[in-house]
Amino acid sequence: MTCANCEAPDRRLWPANRSPERALVPVPVYFRDPVAWLQLKTCSICEGIWVSARHEPFSSFQYCVLWPYSLEDWWHLADQDLDAVLLEWHNAIREAECLKILDRGGADAEAIRSHDARLGRHGPFVKTARPCPDIESYL
Ligand SMILES: [Zn+2]
Repeated sequence: MTCANCEAPDRRLWPANRSPERALVPVPVYFRDPVAWLQLKTCSICEGIWVSARHEPFSSFQYCVLWPYSLEDWWHLADQDLDAVLLEWHNAIREAECLKILDRGGADAEAIRSHDARLGRHGPFVKTARPCPDIESYL
């Protein structure tokens, strides 16, 4: 069933300057090291896990990608120092979802276009889709 707040699992990306009605809440990380500038967030309604990365300018443009596995799975990968894989996964999903959103149009597409224009059309999110790491092969 689709979450009325974050729209998971139908939605897989919240682009910059777009967010659910109830903001995604940072997941406490306690004594763990951060993973490659990625931050975990959760939906207060469905407890879906979202992975946030910030982009220029000023790291003020946040893109949240739905993590379709468990929190334990995330830390299992992080504990194996697979930061680069997790970052590549985030990049691949973000780019692929941005391309789909731009095809569909609407408020999400406007937000992406606006960010892209702000960056002089060098945004890190509208390239051709790149291969996505197979996360399940690491679990
Ligand atoms: Zn939700």
